[in-house]
Amino acid sequence: MAPRVFRFAPSPNGYLHLGHALSALLNGDMARAANGRLLLRIEDIDRTRCRPEYETAIYEDLAWLGLAWEAPVRRQSEHFAAYRDALERLTAMGLVYPSFESRGEIARLVAAREQTAAWPRDPDGVPLYPGTAKQISHDERRRRMAAEPYALRLDMAKALARAGDLHWSETGRGPSCETGQVPARAEQWGDVVLGRKDTPTSYHLAVVIDDALQGVTDVVRGEDLFWATGVHRLLQQLLDLPVPTYRHHRLIRDAEGRKLAKSTKATGLRELRAQGVTPAEIRKLVGLKLKPLRQRE
Ligand code: GLU
Repeated sequence: MAPRVFRFAPSPNGYLHLGHALSALLNGDMARAANGRLLLRIEDIDRTRCRPEYETAIYEDLAWLGLAWEAPVRRQSEHFAAYRDALERLTAMGLVYPSFESRGEIARLVAAREQTAAWPRDPDGVPLYPGTAKQISHDERRRRMAAEPYALRLDMAKALARAGDLHWSETGRGPSCETGQVPARAEQWGDVVLGRKDTPTSYHLAVVIDDALQGVTDVVRGEDLFWATGVHRLLQQLLDLPVPTYRHHRLIRDAEGRKLAKSTKATGLRELRAQGVTPAEIRKLVGLKLKPLRQRE
């Protein structure tokens, strides 16, 4: 049987903290226990927020934790052609349309709608797309695409009609203890952005393309991405991609109970290392047992 393939996929937009350590170590432990492979993927599509020094720090911090991953590391910024190709396939299926409102305009549209009734929000609390770009005529679309910035959105209603009911297999737990065969419920996200005029992908699209291209069989990541899996499952179905098994793990929270957003003195791996904390103590801090043995060396 082919070995199972795990991956840790950080974004180099800050230094790693205890939340990343839990995710990376859990992937490492599971790969080891399954005699599987561990990949590292650098999710750097947002060129404005990602920096080379953060990427270098990721390699250093993970090696310090005792992790070993396969080379070469996949960097998303080097694979825009693969994402563009997938976006073109979805466009050819009639499932993608451009919207032209700025973030400010979208916020104003939502505020106007909320004068009468609450406007729906996605699982991250972001209002669903309120605009009417789907109704713009073909000619006007072409004219405006040449002249204005735009976002490329998935026509969720059409995509769901085409894909039918979908589930994914969850071996961890969702925020309300969902496990087993979980209904995808991609409609919670509305017409999600899949790319922009100057970036031919979004997180959702890049992650499903990469997991498929890299042969990932097991996605192990934080519970904050639990419901995003519904969009991923939908894109896999539309693009005819294999479906990994998912395991979402608990998040590490700060003293106020919030999920860790950036590394601080109390939670940053570099800071903890400088204070003399050992990798074994990091395992303990994130609630993992001592390093398990390999099944077969
Ligand atoms: N790059 C994402 C993050 O740093 C993780 C993506 C994933 O594991 O699917 O939050």
